[in-house]
Amino acid sequence: MPLEIVTVPCLRDNYAFVARDPETGATACIDVPEAAPILAALKARGWGLDDILITHHHPDHVDGVAELVAATGARVTGAAADAHRLPPLDHAVAPGDAVQVGSVAGKVLDVSGHTVGHVAFVFPGAAFTADSLMALGCGRLFEGSAAQMWDSLQRLAALPPETLICSGHEYTAANARFALTIEPGNPRLVERAEAVRAARDAGRPTVPSTLADELATNPFLRAHLPEIKAALGLDTASDAEAFAEIRARKDRF
Ligand code: ZN
Ligand code: FE
Repeated sequence: MPLEIVTVPCLRDNYAFVARDPETGATACIDVPEAAPILAALKARGWGLDDILITHHHPDHVDGVAELVAATGARVTGAAADAHRLPPLDHAVAPGDAVQVGSVAGKVLDVSGHTVGHVAFVFPGAAFTADSLMALGCGRLFEGSAAQMWDSLQRLAALPPETLICSGHEYTAANARFALTIEPGNPRLVERAEAVRAARDAGRPTVPSTLADELATNPFLRAHLPEIKAALGLDTASDAEAFAEIRARKDRF
């Protein structure tokens, strides 16, 4: 059975996720921007918390960990490579390692770029990507290179298209406006931008999305396409160079 996923809005525009194995009742929280909304989401459902999975070291993803551990006794899992700048870990993992939520087996994926050491947690049907692949966007390159982020996005793009992309922020409306500057004639993008606007006007989250929608509309996953390179004026550029140009334009947008 797939994980049951609850999207928990935190701070101004962050998302944490609670994932529960319906078979065993085991529960994990992915990232902890702040503890209170997560504790409220657990309480509303009568759930405990077994595990906390951390994607990367930024404060808006880890600041609530200590309080959530104190309240629930959950074990903390994060990247061994980043252990020196993460909250204390009970379980240090490396890319390729297995992670488990009850009977559901997942795996740790290296998605460096936004930070070096950023990991995603990939389960059947859902990938927790935080600030790597985002809805219609990707994270800014604070530590890694464009080539590194492009590689990371390729690993995520290879997942089954029905995979839910559970990313870390509600940035989708602004991302849609930018994406339309790259591909104004992409009908799937035009349609999605309209749906994003309607969802936000109604106060609904646009996260998670599906990988299939990202592959069809997210310019950062489409940098390898000849029509995108042509639109950028970079017909002969490598895929990573085209990606770098899109990322640079977004930084200035
Ligand atoms: Zn971040
Ligand atoms: Fe973030």
